[in-house]
Amino acid sequence: MNEPDPKTILIVDDMRTNALALASILKAEWTVKTTQDGKAALQIAEEDPMPDLILLDINMPGMDGYEVCRHLKESEKTRDIPVIFVTAKDDQKDEAFGLGLGAVDYIIKPVNKTIVKARIRNHLALRQALTELALNNEELERLATRDKLTGLYNRRRLDQLMAAEIERAWRYGRPLSIMLLDIDKFKTINDTLGHLVGDTILSETAKQLQNSVRSCDLVGRWGGDEFIIICPETTPDTALPLAERLCRDYAACEFTAVDGLTASFGVASYREGRRADDLFSSADDALYRAKRNGRNQVAQEVL
Ligand code: GH3
Ligand code: MG
Repeated sequence: MNEPDPKTILIVDDMRTNALALASILKAEWTVKTTQDGKAALQIAEEDPMPDLILLDINMPGMDGYEVCRHLKESEKTRDIPVIFVTAKDDQKDEAFGLGLGAVDYIIKPVNKTIVKARIRNHLALRQALTELALNNEELERLATRDKLTGLYNRRRLDQLMAAEIERAWRYGRPLSIMLLDIDKFKTINDTLGHLVGDTILSETAKQLQNSVRSCDLVGRWGGDEFIIICPETTPDTALPLAERLCRDYAACEFTAVDGLTASFGVASYREGRRADDLFSSADDALYRAKRNGRNQVAQEVL
């Protein structure tokens, strides 16, 4: 396995000799960049490779360390870089002020080599752990809300989205429609071309649907070869032609493994007092009417 790249530390100190002395302590373990100017530090902090940690002097001509820290914490790009003040200012008020600006640590000069390295190691480890935690949380969120094969919303998330949309439609008296669609004769694709080709068709269907609707429409995988589109601000009168267009677009769509694939659609719309389950089952009834009537077509619920 490759060794991970060494972390990069930026030293900011207007006294060149101080910066170089600190750099010589650290360079065996980390990649070190130095600058003597606060404004330059802000620029270097945004350049690749971005520093993983910044050692920041406070008393500097021009922009002082406090000001540099404030700017770093205000910028989305640099706010997560840990900042350690390294300073001759040994008053507790200064330390409290520096930590209050968001610095993770405060070291008083002259520094002890072993202690400064240990503190840097600890803060880098903490930052690494926080980064991994954020990535794991993102992955967990994706697993909890998205269908693995297609990346569309999963059933669990669709239930939540639908509840929120019904609440909004009811509260503000807004229209809301849904369409359920099911690929026609999908089983024969699995049976003749194999399950993996079937999976590819499902992924391509997801992309096709996502590309054919407005960004405010919510596309999800209802299960198997069945998909749902929740269309906020859509009346029954506009939902029908929309579904008909999607149905035509789907039939014209070029899939990698098959020609002439079609889908059937069922459309239902919100009326005051209607619950999500009621809408789903009406759309489902309409969908099966479209199937019975010959597939590759849209049916709307009968009111
Ligand atoms: P119809 O026109 O009546 O819808 O006919 P159909 O053959 O499409 O029948 P149906 O919708 O009942 O079949 C769905 C098939 O989808 C059955 C199931 O094996 C298959 N399927 C469900 N989930 C997956 C999946 O994740 N991947 C693949 N490849 N196939 C799946
Ligand atoms: Mg089907």
